[in-house]
Amino acid sequence: MRPPRPNAYRTAWVDEARPARVDEEMRVAGWVHRRRDHGGLVFIDLRDRTGLLQLVFDPDEAPEAHAAAHRLRAEHVISARGPLVRRTDETVNPDLPTGEVELRVHEVEELAGADTPPFAVDDDAPVDEVLRLRHRYLDLRRRRMREALELRHAVVQSMRGHLHAEGFLEIETPVLTRSTPEGARDFLVPSRLQPGSWYALPQSPQLFKQLLMVAGYERYYQFPRCFRDEAFRADRQPEFTQLDIEMSFVEEEDVISLVDGLLREVLAVGGVELSGRPDRLTYDEAMLRYGTDRPDRRPGMEIEDLGSAFAGSQFQVFAGALSAGGVVRGLRARGELPRRRLDELTERARSLGAGGLVWAQVEEGGMWRSPVAKFLAEEEMAGASSALDAVPGDFLFLVADAEAVAAAVLGALRLELAPAPEGHDVLWVTDFPMFERNSEEDRWDPLHHPFTSPSGDLDADPGTWRSRAYDVVMDGLEIGGGSIRISRPDVQRRVFAALGLDEQEAELRFGFLLDALRYGAPPHGGIAFGLDRIVALLAGRDSIRDVIAFPKTASGSDPLTGAPAPVDDIQLRELGVRSAAPPPAPAPQR
Ligand code: ASP
Repeated sequence: MRPPRPNAYRTAWVDEARPARVDEEMRVAGWVHRRRDHGGLVFIDLRDRTGLLQLVFDPDEAPEAHAAAHRLRAEHVISARGPLVRRTDETVNPDLPTGEVELRVHEVEELAGADTPPFAVDDDAPVDEVLRLRHRYLDLRRRRMREALELRHAVVQSMRGHLHAEGFLEIETPVLTRSTPEGARDFLVPSRLQPGSWYALPQSPQLFKQLLMVAGYERYYQFPRCFRDEAFRADRQPEFTQLDIEMSFVEEEDVISLVDGLLREVLAVGGVELSGRPDRLTYDEAMLRYGTDRPDRRPGMEIEDLGSAFAGSQFQVFAGALSAGGVVRGLRARGELPRRRLDELTERARSLGAGGLVWAQVEEGGMWRSPVAKFLAEEEMAGASSALDAVPGDFLFLVADAEAVAAAVLGALRLELAPAPEGHDVLWVTDFPMFERNSEEDRWDPLHHPFTSPSGDLDADPGTWRSRAYDVVMDGLEIGGGSIRISRPDVQRRVFAALGLDEQEAELRFGFLLDALRYGAPPHGGIAFGLDRIVALLAGRDSIRDVIAFPKTASGSDPLTGAPAPVDDIQLRELGVRSAAPPPAPAPQR
């Protein structure tokens, strides 16, 4: 950071206090981080954004300042002036960048007092999260939060720098807009000037970025805030930040190679070096080998299809699943697993929808110790053991069921049984199906969004369509996703039709897009990243709340401001809105 303009409060940042500037008179300002009273001398660690510096108050040298220091408490705001001196060898603090020096204070001014904070600011001890969020301005003073926000800034800077160098323009799109479907509910804002009409907050800038491509901007990016009103899902925020990118005249490969370069730079900011370009896996491979479309490959332990090992099996569970068009798949785990754990895993498999779970411990020659061993031929056991690369002592887990159930169950068990992973794993997942079946509502839902370009035979059943979509997965979490878009109005209409939107409704909701696609829409595609998620991964934080300055709790409330909150009847009347909900309970007392 550049030195500050010298003024009445400070002439230097705390971090500028280094041996080279010993004997210089300095004025520094900040918060009382810690105070120690050593009989005669008072020591204060002063904190500003750049770090900590020890201030010394000596009654013989400056009696007034010393008396004032006695009155100072944690988190008081002060400005202090005096000469910078070198510490004696015994008092050097090697843990502090400014630990070789200290400021002998000749004059101190208290700029603001502070109540006793509800939790300690000068350490990172765990504190109840609601308390932290209620006093977020204090929590943000703590080192962990400051480091997270500094990293976030560095990540954003590197993204901007990279995209700027690649010729991308940063362009803003509206927040008060129409609904853009990304699979969640909209947050709505009533219009006062047009009573009865509503804006939707964007779930993403998807359609605006496509319109920018139609408009000829070729390369766009933005850090939009996106709003999705979802039922509680682990570690989601109702508003979150994306890095949103769109490009014209591109194929999948162009987006992927741009992102490979971008990620290499961005991850390096967080100390993660990518070795080579990220691998690519098709959706089908990912589902087969890891049981999920966001695999964490670090533990290995791939799922194997055992259909051929059990092709002629007399064991009713396997034979039944295979003849019904299902699969028999399995997984190998190392290490001791007591009976109780095996029972728990069986229960877990059932709760995930499997009829049951077959477990076996491998013995010499690939034979099994297993409740089902007596139903199996020796060559079946040996075949499955060798397909799973098992050695005596290993445990095997098998599911015989519909393909989707086997994938989901083994995918989940795999993560439960895996040893704690080390390092990082970044990969692309490509070739997604276009739709997934929503059996509750008896319709197709897009796996990505309805503006994704389909591939395959569009005259065939929509269940067979594939899409030109791609996701980036890091350590088992989806950090980004995008696609080549539909750039022809007739194809866009077909996708709307497959989703069950009739012509009229498609026109009503997306007429502006269909119009735009008639005025020279170039082929285009792009991607969006979850910025909060990327920063959390790089900062090694479990929750994205720890890398957002002012996040909401899991239930979507903000303990700091009390949002969401009731509004005055007058406000509602002006908006032409009446609330059908009972009046909320009064806000909790502070
Ligand atoms: N709009 C998409 C999303 O928010 C990303 C994209 O397709 O570019 O997930």
